[in-house]
Order: sequence, then C-alpha cells, then structure tokens
Amino acid sequence: MLMAEMAALETVLARRAEALGVCIRRGAALSSLVQDDEGVSVQAGPASVRAAWVVGCDGARSAVRKAVGFTFAGTEPEFTGYSLQLELADAALLGPGRQLMPRGLIAQFQPGYLAVQEFDGGAGHDGRPLSRARVEQLLRRVSGLDLRVATLHAASSWTDRARQATRYREGRVMLAGDAAHIHAPLGGQGLNLGIGDAMNLGWKLAATVRGTVPQGLLDTYEAERHPVGARVLDWSRAQVALMRPDPAARALREVVADLIGTDDGAARMAGRLWGIETRYALADSHPLSGRSAPDFAFDDGTRLGEHLRDGRALLLDFSGGAALRQLADQYGGALRYLAADAQDRLGVAALLVRPDGIVAWASCAAPELAQAAGAAAASFLGRRDL
Ligand SMILES: Cc1cc2nc3c(=O)[nH]c(=O)nc-3n(C[C@H](O)[C@H](O)[C@H](O)COP(=O)(O)OP(=O)(O)OC[C@H]3O[C@@H](n4cnc5c(N)ncnc54)[C@H](O)[C@@H]3O)c2cc1C
Repeated sequence: MLMAEMAALETVLARRAEALGVCIRRGAALSSLVQDDEGVSVQAGPASVRAAWVVGCDGARSAVRKAVGFTFAGTEPEFTGYSLQLELADAALLGPGRQLMPRGLIAQFQPGYLAVQEFDGGAGHDGRPLSRARVEQLLRRVSGLDLRVATLHAASSWTDRARQATRYREGRVMLAGDAAHIHAPLGGQGLNLGIGDAMNLGWKLAATVRGTVPQGLLDTYEAERHPVGARVLDWSRAQVALMRPDPAARALREVVADLIGTDDGAARMAGRLWGIETRYALADSHPLSGRSAPDFAFDDGTRLGEHLRDGRALLLDFSGGAALRQLADQYGGALRYLAADAQDRLGVAALLVRPDGIVAWASCAAPELAQAAGAAAASFLGRRDL
C-alpha cells in the first residue's frame, strides 16, 4: 500500500487538467439541471451554463444524480465506522493491530490512530458532534475495556451503506465516481473505481463530441463500468460480512484466511484489490483483450505506458510487416503506430490498445493481422476505407 493525501492527488490532477486547457470554476455549486434533446442547461452559482453533455462527478450526495432522478439502489449499513486520532489515558490497555471486540472491531496500525467499527446498523453516523465523551463511550462499549480518552485530536464517522446508480447515463447526463456508487471505504477501492470510470468515459465522450466515433460507443461506458462497480460493492459487502462479531463470521474468516495463505489465493485477492483483474467483455476473444495492456519493456529502454500518455489509441506491432502500418495510417493522428521489440512479448504478434490503456484486440499470429485489427479499430474509432 502507498498512502497518498487527497490534497496532493487533487493538485496533480488539477495541474494536468489545466495544462490541457480545462477551466475549473471553484465555489460554483450546481443548483439546477434541465436537459433536452440538444443539450443541458445548468445553474452553477451565479452562472447559467449550456452544455452538450454533463458528467456528474459531484460525490456521494450528487446534486446531478438527484436533479436527473437516477435510481440509487443498494443496501443499508450494518455498522458505523470511525476514524479517530487521540491519546488514551492508559495506552497499554489497547494493543496494536486489528482486534475483534465484543461489539465490533478496533484497529490501531499506528499509536493513537484508531479505526473503529460498531455494528449498530449505522445509527452512530447521525451528524451529531463526536465529542471526547462520546468517543470514550464508544470505545468502552465496543471493546468492553476500561478505556479513557485523554485528548481527542480528530474524529469522523462513516458507514458501509452500499448503493449504485442503476444507470450511468440518462440522455446527455452521465455519472462517474462516488456520484455513481458508494460503499464502505474498507480496502481503499473507492478512488481507483472513480478514476477507472473517468478513464473509461473521458476519451469516449471526447470522441463523441468530435463526432469521430461509431454510434453507441458512449453506451459502452455504462456497459463496461457498471459491472465493475457492482463487483466492488459486493467485495465490500463480503468484507463487512467477515467482520461481523459473531461465531459464523469468525469461522468464515478462518476459512478465508486459509485461502489467502495459498499463493493462488493471495494472487487472486491482490488482483481484485489492485483492479488488475478487471476485464471488459469485448468482441475479441484473446486472453489479453478487455484487460489493462501489459506494460511491455521495449528493447530501446522505453515502456508501453510512456507511449500511451497522450491519450491516443496505439497499434503495437511486433511482427514488423507493412500491413499494420498502413492500417494505422488510415486513422491519421487518431491511431499511433509503434513497431517495437520486447524481451518478453508474452506470445503476442500485435496489440491494439484503446486510449484508456485497455487492449481492444491482440493476435499471436502474423497472417491476416491487418484485417482483424482493422475490424477491432473500427469498433471504437469508426470505419475507414482500406
Ligand atoms: C473515511 C473514508 C476513507 C476513505 N479512504 C479511501 C482510501 O483509503 N482509498 C480510496 O481509494 N478511497 C477511499 N475513500 C473513498 C474516496 O474518498 C472516494 O471514493 C473518492 O473521494 C470519490 O471521488 P469523487 O471525485 O467521485 O467524489 P468526491 O471526492 O466526493 O468529490 C466530489 C466533488 O464534487 C463537489 N460537489 C459536490 N456537490 C456539488 C455541487 N452541487 N456542485 C458542484 N460541485 C459539487 C465537491 O465539492 C467535491 O469537490 C474513503 C472514503 C471515506 C469516507
């Protein structure tokens, strides 16, 4: 795990957006949204904005989601979670690490930084201030120990409510990030899930605005991302089920811990948490298709990721023939051609990568490469005459 502060991450993203010419208006809360066949009218602060498309990335309480009337369906919380920074009067009473307690769980990975879960159906997340006295009662209740809080530095609460918009697109309005899905922050998957939405949607929307793509490409956003979100919600529900303070959950935890102890089990768990296992159902049946492209190490010292930074589709050719180069030429700047060699080609002869880094097509054999690659490119870049 690598810890990153939200503020630092937002700074990096904002700089990148501004370098690309994006205008960020701060302090302009969206208060109304009305769409018709031609566009969307939005009131944001004092400004009225007319746009062809709107993407609601406005978090768990999304005003965009509510204004359009997206259904936000899911399950109610089982617990209230607390993030606490404090000093205990007798620190020796509470050991380090994750501890299962009579009414929940207390984790102390750093002295004085506690994560607490109380299985109260989410009742504790009621908006009332988390005073020192209230936090002390909570710790005593959950642990059954005689804990006293000497100083409370910071406290916040959250729950494991899990909801997902049943649609990600209604007409000219789309949802991404927490506006589209919320779940317990256990395992730290929320941010990656939202960034995955943005990567999937960004290039499709840009190409739709330019009018250079086949009809229906925008709808693949929901088709590809909704199942990924649903899987993460279920993953977080499974984590909650394992944390319940009852004998059945305790027994189940041992079974799961046993599985994680195997190489295959650990790889599977890491793959899901990391998101590397995500696979979109694309027409091409090659095992790499629909997955994040492998970051090939090329003989010239570069890696595939560096060649994808400008957000264009890429045709990687290990075969060296002229046919694929000609195919890429048909798309001009929209499809970059890269003839390269790598120490480990993973058995592929050529690979077509979408602007979001997902493999659209791969082939192990050189014959008829251009025809098959051409069909795959047409599916998301539009058809060109060869
Ligand atoms: C306690 C806790 C711990 C977490 N820990 C992790 C973790 O370790 N790892 C991880 O990956 N995820 C974690 N998450 C989840 C992560 O924070 C979210 O998934 C992520 O911030 C969602 O990003 P977002 O841009 O979709 O929404 P947000 O970060 O909520 O951003 C929404 C933005 O929209 C703005 N906005 C809201 N309403 C309006 C409006 N009407 N008009 C205009 N703008 C508006 C807000 O000001 C905000 O800037 C945690 C969440 C919680 C609650």
